[in-house]
Amino acid sequence: MTDTVLDRFLRYVVIDTQSDPRSPSQPSTEKQKDLGRVLVEELLAIGITDAHLDEHGYVYATVPTTTTKNNVPVICFCSHMDTAPDFTGTNVKPQIIENYRGGDITLVGDRSQVIRVSDHPELDRQVGNDIVTSDGTTLLGADDKAGLAEIMTAAKFLIDNPDIKHGAIRILFTPDEEIGRGVDKVDIAKLGADFGYTVDGETAGHIEDETFSADGIEIFIRGVAMHPGFAIGKMENAIKIAGNIVARLPKELTPETTAGRDGFIHPTDIRGSMDKAQISLIIRDFTEKGLLEKEELLEDIVKAVMTKFPGSTYSLEVKQQYRNMKGVLDQHPEIMENAIEAIHRAGMLPVRGSIRGGTDGSRLSYMGLPCPNIFAGGHAFHSPLEWISRQDMDRAVTTLVELAKLWEERA
Ligand SMILES: [Zn+2]
Repeated sequence: MTDTVLDRFLRYVVIDTQSDPRSPSQPSTEKQKDLGRVLVEELLAIGITDAHLDEHGYVYATVPTTTTKNNVPVICFCSHMDTAPDFTGTNVKPQIIENYRGGDITLVGDRSQVIRVSDHPELDRQVGNDIVTSDGTTLLGADDKAGLAEIMTAAKFLIDNPDIKHGAIRILFTPDEEIGRGVDKVDIAKLGADFGYTVDGETAGHIEDETFSADGIEIFIRGVAMHPGFAIGKMENAIKIAGNIVARLPKELTPETTAGRDGFIHPTDIRGSMDKAQISLIIRDFTEKGLLEKEELLEDIVKAVMTKFPGSTYSLEVKQQYRNMKGVLDQHPEIMENAIEAIHRAGMLPVRGSIRGGTDGSRLSYMGLPCPNIFAGGHAFHSPLEWISRQDMDRAVTTLVELAKLWEERA
């Protein structure tokens, strides 16, 4: 067994860990535990004696403290083991382009798959680096096996160098992040960390302290059903009511027409028959106010449509999904300050950003573990064009080591 971050990464990506949103079990797919067991074995081999996989598919482990200071916060490094349901993760065949010379990268297993510099301008900064891709027939799984490999490598480095002063570091590897269930069964008390960092971002040097706030909405419609031969003036077809509602959703508030800090209303599922229909939607915004405004707007649309169908009824259910973690992180500015300084010390220019989505950290932050998102170095997540460079993974490892040192130094 070899120890570099690339060695580890290549070992993890060939283990299929795709999660499944339709599965009710926890973890959603049993195969995620295959990787969990490998990680625990490797953690034990490093000398981390409390490493274990629990019955819900989570890996917990501790890098013990090396400092005599007793006021150093316990920090958690977190990444997820599953890969996205969007594209297959079975039989990943990682390809390494050593000393990349620039230009488009054609993937060898499906030559119609090309990573183009025009679509991936980040490639321009990778000349001379070693780039890992899939063969084009699967995703690569850098999201988030890069994070796993980086945390493992940083942990090994800290264990091997006990002269480096740091507080206790808790390691948490989660299943089912990609289907929004990554922290459902996390035992926060057992984890026992004060602050955390997910290592699940993209470009080297980036750190994110903002995510969307997110709600899910279900609209249930009951129409007036009857024999179509005798329906004149009476039938109210629930399918048509649902279609009317979807047709009236504002065109300027959709995922395909918004970027930056603008949120959206997005239908994700619709099904129906004459007598009843159901529309599932997600609402996203960076602020609570924006979220509520969009929900009111949606209900106004539903009400306006329903006035044309007086015999029909509807109900609307709002389910909270996650909240913008910035609300919590702003109360603990040292979490971001230390991370930004660590990125500096690792030789990069820190770039602070926001995510048009959620992370495990957005929910962890509201469960008592404030948790921004540090880059893992991958690009083109959830697609066969996914790629990452060894050098950017090394930068992430250095960032994590520097971050561990900084919390001790500043305590
Ligand atoms: Zn991820």
